[in-house]
Amino acid sequence: MGQVKVLVTGAGGFIGHHLVRHLKEQGYWVRGVDVKAPQYEDSAADQYFRFDLRDQQNCHLATLGDIEEVYALAADMGGMGYITANDAKILHDNTLINVNTIEAARRNGVTRYLYASSACVYPEHLQETPDIAPLREEDAYPAQPQDAYGWEKLIAERLCQYYTQDYGLETRIARFHNVFGPLGTWDGGREKAPAAICRKVAYAKLTGDPVVEIWGDGQQTRSFCYIDDCVTGLYKLMRSDYGEPLNLGQDRMVTISELAHLVAEIAGIEIELVHVDGPQGVRGRNSDNTRLREVLGWEPEISLEDGLRRTYAWIEDQLRERLGLETAQVA
Ligand code: NAD
Repeated sequence: MGQVKVLVTGAGGFIGHHLVRHLKEQGYWVRGVDVKAPQYEDSAADQYFRFDLRDQQNCHLATLGDIEEVYALAADMGGMGYITANDAKILHDNTLINVNTIEAARRNGVTRYLYASSACVYPEHLQETPDIAPLREEDAYPAQPQDAYGWEKLIAERLCQYYTQDYGLETRIARFHNVFGPLGTWDGGREKAPAAICRKVAYAKLTGDPVVEIWGDGQQTRSFCYIDDCVTGLYKLMRSDYGEPLNLGQDRMVTISELAHLVAEIAGIEIELVHVDGPQGVRGRNSDNTRLREVLGWEPEISLEDGLRRTYAWIEDQLRERLGLETAQVA
């Protein structure tokens, strides 16, 4: 028997790039598809296509050739700054990507399809205080996501479930909660809070200016999942027989200010937080991992401190390079 062929869409993005490498390590033949190449290192994929997956014909070509499984990660997305400023584009583009990719997968005989959803599907009214209860999968309904990004994810989840019901395509749905790690976008406007904070703290360290700007009062809470745990969970979920949406995240909630101080401790500097206006998203959010443990017999295990250490080291190196500093120049 030959190698099982899998497709990863969004393979040029943060999670997709790491997932391709993980799947190669598991012995799969991997095709990566994305509008762009990975930004920081070459893809480990056996084959890599630069396709715009909003287009039906491109989705057909992407899923052609005995592809058995699809990890559908392609999406127009970014941190709160990006998401809150691009509702129409996000809903429009991602809906096209989602409907065209799953339909092409079905037509071309794909047997399993995993969709990357998000904690952004959860209703806003359950996330109005920093000390909210962790979100259980069933809390998604009655639906009231905060923005278009959440609605798009919710519709795509339903699409997966109807494809299972009507066509027998096996689908898996992972609801990510703030994934972070090295090789993720760390500047330019699409970066998320952990990467942005690592960059700001690294800048403070390298320039000696202790000021670190935080959007809002810093009391908004989140949980953060390290990338290696995320790809391990994705793979386990694909191998499972569970077709309902499943949280994939850490369940340790911290405030954004705490996150900044953790990073500063790792960097070995004192920082001065300055609170500025900026989009903050919901006030509090955490993952309830009860079902994750039941279904996979596993949950993310890399600590926030450990993950931040690895992420910070990578971002500090990136920034040194950007500023034209030698790695050895600043101890
Ligand atoms: P990312 O932006 O790094 O990766 C997404 C990739 O999709 C990008 O490389 C982008 O070029 C590609 N893409 C966008 N439009 C495309 C198109 N028209 N055709 C082909 N490719 C296109 O984001 P990520 O963090 O790696 O996220 C991967 C998936 O996980 C996304 O679906 C995202 O919504 C979901 N998710 C991520 C997080 C997180 O914390 N990173 C949280 C919740 C959900």
